[in-house]
Amino acid sequence: PIAVSEWLSILPKNAGIANDNVPMRVLVTGGSGLVGRAIQHVVNEEGGAKEGEEWIFLSSKDANLLNTEETMAVFEKHRPTHVIHLAAMVGGLFKNMKSNLDFWRNNIYINDNVLKAAHAVEVVRVVSCLSTCIFPDKTTYPIDETMIHNGPPHESNFGYSYAKRMLDVYNRAYFEQHQRFYTSVIPTNVFGPHDNFNIEDGHVLPGLIHKTYIAKKEGKPLVVWGSGTPRRQFIYSLDLARLFIWVLRDYKEVDPIILSVGEEDEVSIKEAAEAVVQALDFKGEVVYDTSKSDGQFKKTASNAKLRRHLPDFTFTPFDQALKETCDWFVANYDSARK
Ligand code: NAP
Ligand code: GDP
Repeated sequence: PIAVSEWLSILPKNAGIANDNVPMRVLVTGGSGLVGRAIQHVVNEEGGAKEGEEWIFLSSKDANLLNTEETMAVFEKHRPTHVIHLAAMVGGLFKNMKSNLDFWRNNIYINDNVLKAAHAVEVVRVVSCLSTCIFPDKTTYPIDETMIHNGPPHESNFGYSYAKRMLDVYNRAYFEQHQRFYTSVIPTNVFGPHDNFNIEDGHVLPGLIHKTYIAKKEGKPLVVWGSGTPRRQFIYSLDLARLFIWVLRDYKEVDPIILSVGEEDEVSIKEAAEAVVQALDFKGEVVYDTSKSDGQFKKTASNAKLRRHLPDFTFTPFDQALKETCDWFVANYDSARK
């Protein structure tokens, strides 16, 4: 088999690659979620769209992407030139542990339908979304883009992880067989406004924000799950959105790229909980429920590849991004997803 890098050098000029002179029509699947809403914000409020471009943000109400006919119909309707593919079954550690089968099957179906439909309507560029939690559990650190398929993922979320890893397989195969220039990004844990703040099913930061809000209101202790020792890199959804748009326009590879803050910005769950306590000005007791799982201890990722492309990109400081997220949650408590 020919390596993707070799393919690029022998491809006819611009085969399957965006034509910079034609304005993009971008379809964003999962446009109503945490990351999708952040991309909407950057496109609509920060001048992220160029003149003549059209951006379409889909939710599951526009099409159930588990269904092949509905997926094909929504792609036929909009005939996008570019796709940011975010739609997925998503959840925190505890939702993953309960439903590995559903995570595997639903994400495989959604990804197969979306890429099949994109190819059918001749989309030139798809950027799909993986996650750093899909990397091998037993590994050396920092983890980089070459390591995705090196060994089994952590047992807590193997369904989600294997389904996400297969997106990289799709991208390589679409390139080899059809010269499609589809790629993927690998973000770390994301947080921000419009997250899923459901305590049982969501990720750690929205869960802690919601639990702290309730503990403060009811004068009870904040219960952090697990030992607090695992470590995570967190990326603000708005920073991720800015990077996503850069990838769509300027990243010219099929191989994935990690979108992460630096290794030095990794924090423990205990430090994250303390930051939430401070952002919400919670004065009560903080306790750790060690009967709950810690999940993967760490998945420290390297952002060296990103830094080679964008040495000057500035990430929003964690405390500031967390404060903005907490303020958003308090201001939108009634309507927030929870
Ligand atoms: P989210 O807030 O839960 O949003 C999920 C989106 O997918 C929603 O727009 C949802 O539509 C849509 N969706 C789900 N099932 C669908 C279906 N059957 N048909 C059509 N649309 C469907 O998730 P997110 O956190 O923004 O995640 C976006 C992407 O980033 C995902 O691919 C995820 O794997 C990846 N990622 C997330 C994190 C993280 O920490 N959150 C970290 C790394 C990677 P409705 O609003 O209509 O339900
Ligand atoms: P992960 O990064 O894929 O493992 O998923 P999460 O975002 O759910 O983070 C899980 C880590 O946060 C584990 O170490 C949990 O023990 C810890 N944690 C502490 N409190 C909470 C909470 O309220 N919700 C969640 N989801 N995790 C928590």
